[in-house]
Amino acid sequence: MPAAATRSKKRARQVAELLKGEYPEAECALVHETPFELLIATILSAQCTDERVNIVTKELFVKYSTPAALAAVPIGRLEKLIQSTGFFRNKARNIHECCVKLVSEHGGKVPAELEELVHLPGVGRKTANVVLGTAFRIASGVVVDTHVTRLSLRLGLTEHEDAVKIERDLIEQLPQEEWIDFSHRLIWHGRRVCKARKPLCGSCVLERICPKIGVE
Ligand code: SF4
Repeated sequence: MPAAATRSKKRARQVAELLKGEYPEAECALVHETPFELLIATILSAQCTDERVNIVTKELFVKYSTPAALAAVPIGRLEKLIQSTGFFRNKARNIHECCVKLVSEHGGKVPAELEELVHLPGVGRKTANVVLGTAFRIASGVVVDTHVTRLSLRLGLTEHEDAVKIERDLIEQLPQEEWIDFSHRLIWHGRRVCKARKPLCGSCVLERICPKIGVE
């Protein structure tokens, strides 16, 4: 293995350890009670804050907490219910088609396999990883969102900006049992300390080992 790769693998494991100490309880911020609710919340979270999604789903799931119930909601009504999450026409169509498919092909249950999940409308690899990791505790990959992207670059764990390539790099550097929680913890750290505009390096638990790539 080249020296640079060995260094970054070592650093990735150090990052995982330090963040484990900092955020032992880190978990997904999307409020949900079932895999289905998490799936819908994750679809809604595209280009939207988790806080906003939680406000919308709190009302949505009171009435429509199963694929059959949500599939029966007319698209126009669904659009209104989720409007404030943005891109609501697209999201409403995807959610409707996803629920129809869950009912017709999966007996109204969210499948616990990556291959099945990514064939549902509106579900990409990131959403599938979120659902598998958080709802089923299956480490199918590393969830790469905007925080994971930014921190992975700054920490020198990847040189890529493409989510698929970043995920591949992180998977290579971390043991599989770390994949789920590493992502949650990186997201928490990105929200609290390694912020997009002004990272708080002076109070960061990773400062000693962070090359701060791209940080002015
Ligand atoms: S030292 Fe700075 S750039 Fe590195 S992870 Fe911490 S806050 Fe982010």
